[in-house]
Amino acid sequence: MGDVIVITGASRGIGAACARLLAEPDRMLIINYASNNVAAEALVSEIAKTGGKAIAVQGDVGSEADILRLFEEADRHGRLAGLINNAGILDVSQRVDEMSRSRISRMFDVNVLGSFLCAREAVKRMSTKQGGKGGTIVNLSSAAALLGAPNNYVDYAASKGAIDTFTKGLALEVAEEGIRVTAVRPGVIDTDIHASGGQPGRAEQMRAAIPMKREGSANEVAEAVVWLMSQKASYVTGTILDVSGGR
Ligand code: NAP
Repeated sequence: MGDVIVITGASRGIGAACARLLAEPDRMLIINYASNNVAAEALVSEIAKTGGKAIAVQGDVGSEADILRLFEEADRHGRLAGLINNAGILDVSQRVDEMSRSRISRMFDVNVLGSFLCAREAVKRMSTKQGGKGGTIVNLSSAAALLGAPNNYVDYAASKGAIDTFTKGLALEVAEEGIRVTAVRPGVIDTDIHASGGQPGRAEQMRAAIPMKREGSANEVAEAVVWLMSQKASYVTGTILDVSGGR
């Protein structure tokens, strides 16, 4: 059995783009998704046609039980070599003084706790201090972590700020254990996440505010993630790479 890479939230968008770039005959990709079984299975078939290996595993990263099940499934397919903590959610535009506790709680459960707990499971398996052979973790942050996203989604921005700090802290904690931990901080990227936040045309509307005057593609973010995952980035840890067209 070869290497296994877990990609959370990979049925579409940036996660799916990462899976397409990482597909190889001797590497098993675990395509996690929340609800869209059809899209996840279509991606698995697409990868198989190009000679890659992948399976789709449903699981809500806001649930610890689902995360444990996801990594147990990954264990059945070989040695865990990498984790892309990509699953993340947005909500509709609201001011902080309008937000419900349940909204904020769900935002942090998925975006922050989900990434922490997935990383915990990955470290247990990859740390050379715990019998593993090392590996890499790439977290998906957001330019919102630096901008704050006022009048839109400060909860989302704050959850990504937590990811930045988490990336730094965990990277230093496991640097001697064969594990590199990095993050990518995308700007405005053309995916369905904006529609899920009630603003399907947001990427296009934001063009004027982006120095490069265009939104990015999921593939442009995935290229950065895949480089950070690779041996080409072997001396890179604790780094947060902006992929934001200068924003
Ligand atoms: P997306 O198009 O909305 O896709 C989200 C993916 O995550 C889907 O595969 C979805 O699965 C899955 N997902 C959602 N909630 C989940 C949960 N609780 N557990 C497991 N999987 C879940 O998002 P994206 O734009 O590709 O974003 C990917 C990451 O990049 C996120 O962390 C996001 O915050 C970050 N990011 C995106 C942008 C941007 O402009 N797009 C900018 C900065 C940062 P289902 O389809 O099954 O629901």
